[in-house]
Amino acid sequence: MFATVTRSEGALLSTHTSIDADTVWELVVARAAQTPDFILITDENDRTLTCAQYRHAAERAAAGFYAEGVRPGDTVAWQLPTWIETIVLLGALARLGVRQVPVLPVYRDRELGFCLVQTGASLLCVPATWRGVDYAAMAARVAEALPGLEVRVCDRSLPDGDPATLPAPPAADTTRDVRWIYYTSGTTADPKGAQHTDHSSIAAGKAFCVRQHVRFADRFGMAFPFTHVGGLNNLLAGLREGMGLVCVEAFDPAMSAAVFTKNHVTLVGGAPAFYLSFIELQRKNPGVSVLPEVRFMSGGGAPMPPEMHLEVKREIGGLGIGHGWGMTESCITAINDPTDTDEHLMYTSGRAVLGMEIKAVLPDGSTAAAGVDGEMRVRGDSVMVGYLDPALNADAFDADGWFRTGDIGHLDVDGYVVITGRMKDIIIRKGENISAKEIEDLLYAHPKVIDAAVIGLPDRDRGEMVCAVVECRDGNDPLTEAELAQYCNDAQIMRQKIPERLEVVDTLPRNATGKILKHELRARYSARP
Ligand code: AMP
Repeated sequence: MFATVTRSEGALLSTHTSIDADTVWELVVARAAQTPDFILITDENDRTLTCAQYRHAAERAAAGFYAEGVRPGDTVAWQLPTWIETIVLLGALARLGVRQVPVLPVYRDRELGFCLVQTGASLLCVPATWRGVDYAAMAARVAEALPGLEVRVCDRSLPDGDPATLPAPPAADTTRDVRWIYYTSGTTADPKGAQHTDHSSIAAGKAFCVRQHVRFADRFGMAFPFTHVGGLNNLLAGLREGMGLVCVEAFDPAMSAAVFTKNHVTLVGGAPAFYLSFIELQRKNPGVSVLPEVRFMSGGGAPMPPEMHLEVKREIGGLGIGHGWGMTESCITAINDPTDTDEHLMYTSGRAVLGMEIKAVLPDGSTAAAGVDGEMRVRGDSVMVGYLDPALNADAFDADGWFRTGDIGHLDVDGYVVITGRMKDIIIRKGENISAKEIEDLLYAHPKVIDAAVIGLPDRDRGEMVCAVVECRDGNDPLTEAELAQYCNDAQIMRQKIPERLEVVDTLPRNATGKILKHELRARYSARP
């Protein structure tokens, strides 16, 4: 159940220490100095980069970009798959002191154009084509309307130059200088650009390591797109502790599990959609764990049905799931300690991580007591310095600098976070608030159901009606309305909460990080009574 530590890694264990650094580049340099031969990155094609090779490759690419005119303080966007070269590009741009705008590969002309206009990026790096999408053509279309923008096709290749030509790494005010602009992953109409500093990003990586006992020679299976803020946070965690990253350019459960197993992955996850994929894969392969060395799964980004933790523990093995609560704006905000009780791992998102404070606030502005739901607000090291669009900031922060997350939840008496819904994700039926999550958790536990989303649909009599959209295990034997009603009655939930409409779908629409796109479901079913 535990990681295989090679002999050379074993020797390093005695000298290894966690690295605290002020900037991302300093972290790269310090890690390369401490464990030069440790394999930092591996991909599905068995390509690897040690810590020293990573530093070297990043410096050469930085010199290449410099020769092409990229300067400290420029803004560079990159819309690239999870390739080793992408991670090197991040290091190269960090070396140069560039403001980076990682863009999810699922973004198309509209969203990509929005990010580029808003950030005023001078360079966009894309693959030529990837998974059937012509990114070079899309970039060219978008660039036509943006005269200041250059496009560079970086197809598993980066510019190369002599590191001796580089200027010194620029000094930075690490808590103020914006080095990262991450766009939220698209559950709202327009993406919002969250501005992070090296300080906020490094703090998130450290907090994750501390809470989840990340240790030298752990290996993290990166199933989600590296362009998500979690990609940077996990890389920084890896640089801090000497945790290897095992990457796959696109997620496929069976292929990813095979690559992770081959490379002795000890931590995996990302979000509930990924936990679920591995659980389903395990069920198709009974008897042998599909992730035999994984100590626990780790992630956040969406509500998790409590049962999932037990399913992972029972069926895949290890400690289960150390789920957390986080967002693009504040990175990992709370996360479970995987050695905690099942009760905590199932029903909570853990306690606030190192450097972060969390409170639930009532509509009158007062702080809610333990166990009482309110709007969750957060403050601390990993919170962004603000949105790029200043107009959004007045509402985003309260007078005392707490970020209003828009999530509803509470802290229990021991300070564990319980997210019960989203401000916008409650169903108001006949004036009564109904938590979508409560019904989703219940439906998830139904034997015929793989996953479920519960939404409110406009209704003349009730204001909103409760609609359940479910993905079923067997398309030939889907959940029926009668079974749903019976099941909910047996669970003894309030009659008002029982879904009044049931839609069975082949697959729920999800964004790149696996979050169910409820706005799409609302639009789909509001239009079709
Ligand atoms: P994003 O910035 O796109 O990663 O989305 C962040 C949002 O995902 C949060 O504001 C929550 O609404 C949701 N989310 C993240 N973690 C959890 C969690 N543990 N439970 C419920 N919702 C979550």
